[in-house]
Order: sequence, then C-alpha cells, then structure tokens
Amino acid sequence: MSRKVDKVVIANRGEIALRILRTCREMGIRTVAVHSLADRDLMHVRMADESVCIGPNESAKSYLNTPAIISAAEVTDATAIHPGYGFLAENADFAEQVERSGFTFIGPTADVIRLMGDKISARHAMQKIGVPTVPGSDGPLDDNNDKTLKTAAKIGYPVIIKAAAGGGGRGMRVVHSEAALLNAVYVTQAEAKAAFGSDKVYLEKYLQNPRHIEIQILADGQGNAVHLGDRDCSVQRRNQKIIEEAPAPGIDAKARNAIAKRCVKACVDMGYRGAGTFEFLYEDGEFYFIEMNTRIQVEHPVTEMITGIDIVRAQLNIAMGKKLAFKQSEIEMRGHALECRINAEDPTTFIPSPGLVNLFHAPGGPGIRVDSHLYSGYSVPPYYDSLVAKIICHGDNREQAILRMRQALDELIIKGIRTNTQLQQNLMRSSDFMRGGVSIHYLHKKLEN
Ligand code: ADP
Repeated sequence: MSRKVDKVVIANRGEIALRILRTCREMGIRTVAVHSLADRDLMHVRMADESVCIGPNESAKSYLNTPAIISAAEVTDATAIHPGYGFLAENADFAEQVERSGFTFIGPTADVIRLMGDKISARHAMQKIGVPTVPGSDGPLDDNNDKTLKTAAKIGYPVIIKAAAGGGGRGMRVVHSEAALLNAVYVTQAEAKAAFGSDKVYLEKYLQNPRHIEIQILADGQGNAVHLGDRDCSVQRRNQKIIEEAPAPGIDAKARNAIAKRCVKACVDMGYRGAGTFEFLYEDGEFYFIEMNTRIQVEHPVTEMITGIDIVRAQLNIAMGKKLAFKQSEIEMRGHALECRINAEDPTTFIPSPGLVNLFHAPGGPGIRVDSHLYSGYSVPPYYDSLVAKIICHGDNREQAILRMRQALDELIIKGIRTNTQLQQNLMRSSDFMRGGVSIHYLHKKLEN
C-alpha cells in the first residue's frame, strides 16, 4: 500500500532532528520542526519549512506531549511523523495514536513496538525463533521470594535485575550475592514503576566480560529484509555508549553472517517494518540477545559510512510503502568507521555542562562526518540529553579510521561549555582500544585508574 509521506513532522530535537531534516530536504519532502520553548534557536528549527512550538521546556510537556505533536501535524497539513530516537520513538501508544489520527508513523507497527518494548516478550520472541538469549528467568519475577531465590541460584551469581520496560541504560541492578537479592528486586521494581510505569522486572545472568555487538536491519514489512552488518558499542559509561564502530573488530564474517541471518529471519517472521537493531552481548564466541530497538539509533552513521546506505532515506521509503530497493547480495561493506559521541559534560565529574557555545568549529577532511546541531552563539539548554556532536570517521581500515579520528578531535573546537573531547582523545590513543575488542567494562576500569 503506498502512503503519502510528503510533509514530515520531526518529533525530536538536537542532532537527530537535523539529521532527519537533511535527508527529507534531499528527497524533496517538506519538514515541520516541533520544539519546546527552550529550543526555538535549534538549527533545524531555523531550516525547517515550518515550525511549531509544542510546549514548555520540560520534555514531559513538549517532546513527550502526544496531543501537542499530533495537533502540530494537523495544523500544518503534514502527512507523516518521524520520532527520531529517545522521547516517543519506542512508545507504542504514540505510534498507535499517530496512525489513528491519519498520519504515517515512520517506524514499525504499534504491535511490534509493544512486543519488542517489553524485554521479556522480546526474549520469548527471540527464543522461539532460535536466537540465543542471556540465561535468565522465564518471565517476570513475582512475589514468590523462594522462587526468585531459586531462579537466581540456578542462573548463578552475579545476576542482573532488569526492568522489562527499561531503556537508556536505566532500570538495571547487578546483584552479587543471595543476601542482597530480594531487597534489590524490591528496589528495582519500585524504581521501574516510577520511571517506566511498570514494575515488571526479570533476572539475567550478569556476564563478566562481554562486548556489546548489534546488528542493523532494514525491513519493508512486505516480506523483504536485509542486514547492514554489525556495530561494536562496547565502550560505555554507566550503560551509555560513548564510542561505536562498524564492523565489530575481530568477529569473523561467518559468525557475523550467521547471527545477522537470524535477525533478518526474525524481521520477516514478525512482519517488521522500518529500521531496527538487535542488540547482543558477545562473550567467548557466543552471541546472547538482550533487546531490540525499533527505531533509528544514535550510532547509525557508522553503518551508513561502511555501506553507503542512508538509513533515514530507507526509513522514509519504507514508510511510503516502497519495497526495499536492494537485496542482501547488493550490499557491500567497505572499510571501517568510528563514531565518538561528544557530550556537554565535565570531563572529570561527568556532570552536564550546558551553556553558551562561544565558538564552534567542526573538523573536516577525507572520511570525516560531523552530525551536530551546534553553531557559534548557540546555547545548550540544561533540560535534555547532553549529546552535542557525533564525530564520525571512515577509513580503508580500522587504523586509518583511528588516525582520522585523532585528527578530527584535534580540529574540533567547542568553546564556552565543557565536553568529553579529551577523554575521546585519550581513548583513541589507548593501546587497549587500538587493539580492538574491549569489553563493556573497559571504560569503567580505565576511569577508576
Ligand atoms: P537499555 O535498554 O537500557 O539500553 P540493555 O538491555 O540494552 O538496556 O543493556 C544496556 C547495557 O547494559 C548493555 O550494553 C550492557 O553494557 C549492560 N548489560 C545489560 N544486560 C547485561 C548482562 N546480562 N550482563 C552484563 N551486562 C549487561
């Protein structure tokens, strides 16, 4: 079924709103920027064909305000809504209301978002089609404490308690001993209820030394799906990714293809539509599924750099009802790409550092891409995520990508606010990172020293 996507509301802010706007413009699709009061000076708001202020500074009243976003689509005669990442991107109720109001939601159906948004049902769905998951509880923990203790003993300590509805690295707690388990379950349930509106939690084995490896897929919801290879996002701080790269170093093509094929099959089986990511922990040569993200990801540019495929364009085409324009055999992966996230934060305390950017200078040169909404004179508001720029470098191989990243970080100038640029520089010179294949605990250990 072909659907009209000729005017898109970009229901997001910052770098991803600008990223989406750029591809829309290239495709001749008109854009509507919706923004909070604090965000009227965002770069994409100035560049969009139209803009609508949808509420005050707090995201709960603006970027999470479904009626305001849908009204903005109505008053501007838009036909589709792109949710970006974060905010309402993985909110099934939002997707449902967008479609019910007669607009195209640029993403999967509400049912699929709901299935994958609950990490327990996602685990079950993967187990059913033979994708390995981290050993854990069968379903949510209930108030049968004996059963919980037995389940944990069977899995073996340490275990991690995870909120079924959790996201963004929140709603997780590691437990090292039986004595601490029940209280931790109770606290995580209460936190999950407050943060995600559901107190459903489950147990997983806490893997000691895994890497975070994920598979990017595209599916048209018409029986066609492909993968765009993998990404390694193991350099994390507090479960938040800091550096991403593609392909994941040291994974042989056979293992990568085998797991990617299963993800593709899963997408065909569920009738998945749009871009999506299967996230895995990888330890001792085995992949363990942890969750699926039913949206575009922050780190999508590294995949774009090695495949030459514009993932936002693919999302828009799929939303229009077009079939995938390429077969798996036509997707070629070339070279290596790295992404360093630049956050507005204190380099030692990691406390957010909003404020006026007196001077912004973006790096350039072969293989360099900068996704950022910053400009000299822009003021970073204190209300939202601290990500202000993504520096992406492509090279013929990993060494060249690292060399280019060092130069790019050298050239980057952000004055007025504090950023983690120096940390990224240090990482690009660390022998462990240069070797490739560090675990998810690497950065934490490095920062402790
Ligand atoms: P979120 O939805 O909040 O992103 P994920 O389930 O994707 O949560 O996990 C985020 C990160 O937490 C992973 O990349 C990994 O670093 C860590 N993590 C999650 N599950 C486990 C586990 N079973 N063992 C060890 N680390 C884990």
